[in-house]
Amino acid sequence: MPGAADHPKAWRVGQALVCAWLGLSAQVGAAPAGAAAAPPQPGAPCSLWNHRLPGFQSQDCAALPLKPSGARSVQGRELWMGDVGPATAPLKVLVLGAIHGDELSASSVALQWMGLAQQAPGTARWRFVPVLNPDGLLAQPPRRTNAHGVDLNRNFPTPRWEQEAPRYWVQRTRKDPRRWPGPKPLSEPESRLVQAQMEAFAPDLIVSIHAPYGVLDFDGPSEAPKHLGRLTLDPVGVFPGSLGYYGGVHKGVPVVTIELPNALRAPLPAETRQMWQDLQRWMGEHLQRR
Ligand SMILES: [Zn+2]
Repeated sequence: MPGAADHPKAWRVGQALVCAWLGLSAQVGAAPAGAAAAPPQPGAPCSLWNHRLPGFQSQDCAALPLKPSGARSVQGRELWMGDVGPATAPLKVLVLGAIHGDELSASSVALQWMGLAQQAPGTARWRFVPVLNPDGLLAQPPRRTNAHGVDLNRNFPTPRWEQEAPRYWVQRTRKDPRRWPGPKPLSEPESRLVQAQMEAFAPDLIVSIHAPYGVLDFDGPSEAPKHLGRLTLDPVGVFPGSLGYYGGVHKGVPVVTIELPNALRAPLPAETRQMWQDLQRWMGEHLQRR
């Protein structure tokens, strides 16, 4: 979550600049105006994310069942998602990575979990959106907000959003541009995708991966997980327009919010696996099909 000023040198490398430029160009070239969009190429999003995500493994990514969701970001980038596990599984879980574009490790963990789900999906059908905010993630430098400058995690239609979200932004954040909730709830295509998936996929659990506060948060009707790997539960409260407030409190869908300890470094593979195993264990003990 640190801003550009916190790590100005990290992103001033030509490779990343070229990668970000190629990412935008590839999307523009993939769907020229008036022409049918080309069918997705295996591994297509992986080449966009390759130089941006820490701990990224191209071969592992290319083996994942990613497909276009049909929705696109503000700048026209495809929002990729992928399903793993039996369609008839008793539980459905939606996993979101990098709703904040500068939390790069969040996408790395989502992709690694997707690979682990392929090996052992357990009792769940998993739907992954590993890069929910590609415009922010591929920006130079990476940016928390989407291309409209909206904090997507303040853009969900929580009760009294029109009063509370702008007031919170003005009074509590002092108009922090990194936390602008947007002109109205669900004003952004990226937040609309999440809401649409909550309707179409009807998850029993949402896991949203962030960084860098190194804690675990939970909203919703179930008993909260006490820890995932080395992350321990430390509820941070609810914010107008946040996914935790919208999904967990308002809609009654448990939302696990993971704050990885570092936005730029991926956890070690053993830690990522431990979080995955702890999540599965908690699901088995506390989550019931609604
Ligand atoms: Zn975040």
